[in-house]
Amino acid sequence: MAYVRKEISTESIRAQERICAGINERLGEKPRLAMVDTYGCQQNEADSEKLRGYLAEMGYGFTSNEFEADVIVVNTCAVREHAEMRVLGNVGQLNHAKKEKPGQIIAVCGCMVQQEHMAEKLRKSYPIVDLVFGPHELWRFPELLESVLFAKKRRRVFETGPDDGSVAEGIPLRRDGSVKAWLSVMYGCNNFCTYCVVPYVRGRERSRRPEDIVREARELVAAGYKDITLLGQNVNSYGRDLGINVDFADLLRMINDIEGDFLIRFMTSHPKDATEKLFRTMAECEKCAHQLHLPVQSGNDRVLKAMNRHYDSEKYLRQAELARKYMPDLVITTDIIVGFPGETDEEFEDTVRLCERVRFDAMFTFIYSKRVGTPAAEMPDAATREQKQRRFDRLLDTANRISGEKHAEYEGRTLRVLIDGETGKPGYNLSSRTNGGRLVHLKGDTGLIGSFAEVRIVSSNTWALYGELV
Ligand code: SAH
Ligand code: SF4
Repeated sequence: MAYVRKEISTESIRAQERICAGINERLGEKPRLAMVDTYGCQQNEADSEKLRGYLAEMGYGFTSNEFEADVIVVNTCAVREHAEMRVLGNVGQLNHAKKEKPGQIIAVCGCMVQQEHMAEKLRKSYPIVDLVFGPHELWRFPELLESVLFAKKRRRVFETGPDDGSVAEGIPLRRDGSVKAWLSVMYGCNNFCTYCVVPYVRGRERSRRPEDIVREARELVAAGYKDITLLGQNVNSYGRDLGINVDFADLLRMINDIEGDFLIRFMTSHPKDATEKLFRTMAECEKCAHQLHLPVQSGNDRVLKAMNRHYDSEKYLRQAELARKYMPDLVITTDIIVGFPGETDEEFEDTVRLCERVRFDAMFTFIYSKRVGTPAAEMPDAATREQKQRRFDRLLDTANRISGEKHAEYEGRTLRVLIDGETGKPGYNLSSRTNGGRLVHLKGDTGLIGSFAEVRIVSSNTWALYGELV
């Protein structure tokens, strides 16, 4: 069955904003605070900026103290069990705040609640939760919140309808920083890697229109943002669903053409779809950071096949090599799952070997977590927890050693960084990022935040570089 894309009309979003204005008026002068607690990936961070945008239009200020908040929104993640356990634990803890603050509204949204069994769990075992809504309903948050805010007697609302292909433009945003910004270019995922819950909870791939993305990027640059990260589960399939002749590399070029001094980053790239055109474009576009997050997941071909990743280790190695041919200074990072069902110790060794060959600048390593409803959840899994933990520890040691060695290669070099914030530490009070995204600690005036600077790297460790302004 063909997938139907549903563009939410500007009028529908304006109607939601009118609801915000209505709420603002009804609540009147009374000061009010909201807390938005975000778990998981950058896409969720970006979604939380929309929730805050709406809340700001309702007249809410923001707090990170649950005892002060009139409205609490917990934006959840479902990728691993660990994230879900943290959410449930923290939501449970909110009952202390709610006791002290009668009338406090607790909402839980995002990927976790889009799974039926989790929505049920919240319904049955978490009576303090007033509102539950999935990622497909986010654009209707004002309407949903209104329905619990002004109910005659307490009303619980659960809205976790199926993926309806919706793409909404024009939701007000309240961004977190002033230097770095997230910019979603597409939603959902079509890949169905056998371990992953994302396609089930986020729905099918929907690309935003290039003109909407470019307009938002222009606004960001005009507002002084210097570091824009384009977001999508697999940016390499950007545009396919639009039926126009624009792919991700073309989109990069359009954003690169915007006047101004800023950097473009993106994540995530799927190795099955990364193309030479993409690498060439990255090399040619002067604003495009030389940074590539290319999750490999495993270095063993049988495991990659069982994961439904559509590439083998040879193809991955060739791609990394090709990307480095175009950009010798490219920073490559990856994600790896340890202990996928059926993975043997020997198969795991292939992953270690691949890491030694690619020499990733940084690796994000995870122990496999069984997700309800995914094909991998049904696969036999003989390895014990201890075995998996041993593999994980070994991979982490490898990752840390390689990161440390790669960082040491920066010592003595002078390079351009973007100063993006404070560290809170007296010795090296500023944090910054290299073009490739590596963290550099510096000492300097806080007035430099938001500007590019030349630094000489004086020392390093596994996690960061340390530099002096030149
Ligand atoms: N779309 C991105 C990743 C999204 S999830 C991509 O394809 O690369 C982020 C990472 O979480 C994945 O790369 C994977 O390494 C990890 N992950 C996803 N599902 C997992 C699971 N069931 N158990 C453990 N890690 C998982
Ligand atoms: Fe999950 Fe695979 Fe889609 Fe990434 S590409 S979100 S790992 S299904």
